[in-house]
Amino acid sequence: MSLLLLGGTAEARALARELARAGIEAEVSLAGVTRAPAVMDLPVRIGGFGGDAGFAAYLAAQGISGVIDATHPFAEVMSERAARICSARGVDYLRLERAAWEAGPGDLWHAVAGFGDLAGLIPKGARVFLATGRQSLPLLGDLAAGRHLYLRQIEPAKVGALDEVEIVLGRGPFSIEEEVALLRKLRVDWLVVKNAGGAGGRAKLEAARMIGLPVALIERPFVAMIARPAGRDGALVRDVEAALDWALVRMRGGE
Ligand code: NAP
Repeated sequence: MSLLLLGGTAEARALARELARAGIEAEVSLAGVTRAPAVMDLPVRIGGFGGDAGFAAYLAAQGISGVIDATHPFAEVMSERAARICSARGVDYLRLERAAWEAGPGDLWHAVAGFGDLAGLIPKGARVFLATGRQSLPLLGDLAAGRHLYLRQIEPAKVGALDEVEIVLGRGPFSIEEEVALLRKLRVDWLVVKNAGGAGGRAKLEAARMIGLPVALIERPFVAMIARPAGRDGALVRDVEAALDWALVRMRGGE
């Protein structure tokens, strides 16, 4: 085994399919946060590595010579670690990260650096729809005070300390019409979204534009914005095709 694909995204799944099709030996690594992870076309290992030391030991033990980091744009810990440790150990590293969303005409987007800025932006009394996942709950801080919060989740789960948060169950992808209907039904005043990018989660932003809803857009963490040289030999690519190209060059000597 020499290529490790850090997954957890639709792009990682698609890349696994392409690598398998190309006959490239590789293993996918998943954090194990999803109860029923998607079926992959490559061997999969599941669970954390056990910190920096565990990750470095894993690379050495498996003889990994290349890492493709296709984790989510907000998976800050894993991504920063992979870039740093690969660089220190001379392991080839590529970041596959889809482009961020950009506002167009009619969008009422307000970029914020983190969840801590939401309470200063969204007025009290507002009905707020959080499309940011359960992990964001501990980060909401004062937002829950004086506002009605909805949080969309795939499956029912204990919310924890924030009893004020009303859970809305739903499994994407959603159509624009479905998103418009939901936001209207709940009489939402503000939408909160992480700038994940990609086609899958775009419908809620289109819906917000259609009904003139303001959006608080959480910017990507710093690690995702580190300037990395783009291109075939660079460390950052935006699509699966470019990542496959990178893997082919390294693993099969440029075929
Ligand atoms: P994170 O903050 O970067 O990582 C938290 C811990 O999870 C890491 O310290 C590591 O554990 C483990 N980990 C993360 N990605 C891993 C992988 N691909 N293989 C093995 N271990 C991994 O990540 P996160 O934001 O919690 O996300 C966890 C996973 O869900 C990622 O794979 C990510 O791609 C996916 N995901 C995240 C989001 C999001 O919004 N954050 C959205 C969709 C999918 P150890 O320290 O024990 O090694």
